[in-house]
Amino acid sequence: LKDFAYVAASSLGEAVGVLSTHGERAKVLAGGTDLLVHLRETPLEADVVLDVKRIPELGELRFDGGRGLVLGAAVPCWRLYDAPDIVNAYPALTDAARIVGGWQIQSRATVGGNLCNASPAADTVPPLIVERAVARIAGPSGERRVPVVEFCTAPRKTVLARGEMLIALEFPPPVERSGSRYLRFIPRNEMDIAVVGAAAHLTLDPASRSIAEARIALAAVAPTPVFASEASAWLAGKPATEESFVRAGELAKKAAVPISDLRGPAEYRLHLVGVLVRRALAGALDRARGGSREPRPFHPRPEGRGSSRAGRPGGGR
Ligand SMILES: Cc1cc2nc3c(=O)[nH]c(=O)nc-3n(C[C@H](O)[C@H](O)[C@H](O)COP(=O)(O)OP(=O)(O)OC[C@H]3O[C@@H](n4cnc5c(N)ncnc54)[C@H](O)[C@@H]3O)c2cc1C
Repeated sequence: LKDFAYVAASSLGEAVGVLSTHGERAKVLAGGTDLLVHLRETPLEADVVLDVKRIPELGELRFDGGRGLVLGAAVPCWRLYDAPDIVNAYPALTDAARIVGGWQIQSRATVGGNLCNASPAADTVPPLIVERAVARIAGPSGERRVPVVEFCTAPRKTVLARGEMLIALEFPPPVERSGSRYLRFIPRNEMDIAVVGAAAHLTLDPASRSIAEARIALAAVAPTPVFASEASAWLAGKPATEESFVRAGELAKKAAVPISDLRGPAEYRLHLVGVLVRRALAGALDRARGGSREPRPFHPRPEGRGSSRAGRPGGGR
């Protein structure tokens, strides 16, 4: 590990100043669960590691049923699934927050870091896309907002320019009769990278009980997480049935351009897209109808441990 200077910024202005001065040679540190691994095990080098956890705007976590959610870029994953209002309003997001690594990782890792790391397999990004999250960005010329669906541009590349950093993710308020679900396939039970991930969001039409709107996004099947636009558009106005979900799963494959690697061949990944999209849509439908927001029944809590995290060995999968 090459030596670097450590700077803990206490304001956005200070952080943007450091990033503007050092450019690519400065790296933002949120939870550090990607950054420190990369600094140690890859050719990535930094002159300055910029800790952003003391900046007030990045620590904000605010939910209001009428205004939506503001998720600061330095808020660790566990705080999302520990907040019942947020679990209820954005269940696909909390599905993903519960499966990033295990407890130890979730106590440090942030959704903002997961997005800025821009892995094609990032678990929280498909949920961010289907929940219509917008990235609030600070930079030398002020602030700007970019929809998350446009944020990742290539593996480990984002729209962030020199001097820019993510402040927060902003979510619109939840809509009545809507639900969402995130599922991933991994060969082991936990602590693994997605072979494929699929998020689905459904809103039901109150009169016809058919689908008013659908959004589907995928991970690990393209250079970036992708929005499955054709499958999403096709579902609008269709009955909320297994048959529709199977067809949407087939259409979602058109958004996938998977590679073959040690986690599985491309054909296998395409097959998984069909399976996971169908199941994620069924899970989203169940939640739109008022079903449980929990990914599966809780394990019994170990005696003497009271927190909601304590009942979820292996990060709650
Ligand atoms: C054991 C282990 C298991 C893991 N399991 C999973 C998993 O199941 N699913 C998964 O998706 N990931 C997994 N990861 C990867 C990692 O934990 C996640 O990507 C995590 O969400 C990263 O968040 P962080 O806060 O730690 O990011 P950091 O490591 O702090 O940052 C990640 C990258 O984003 C940049 N960055 C961070 N914050 C900002 C900001 N505000 N503005 C601009 N750039 C920023 C950093 O410079 C760095 O390049 C795992 C990692 C480990 C070590």
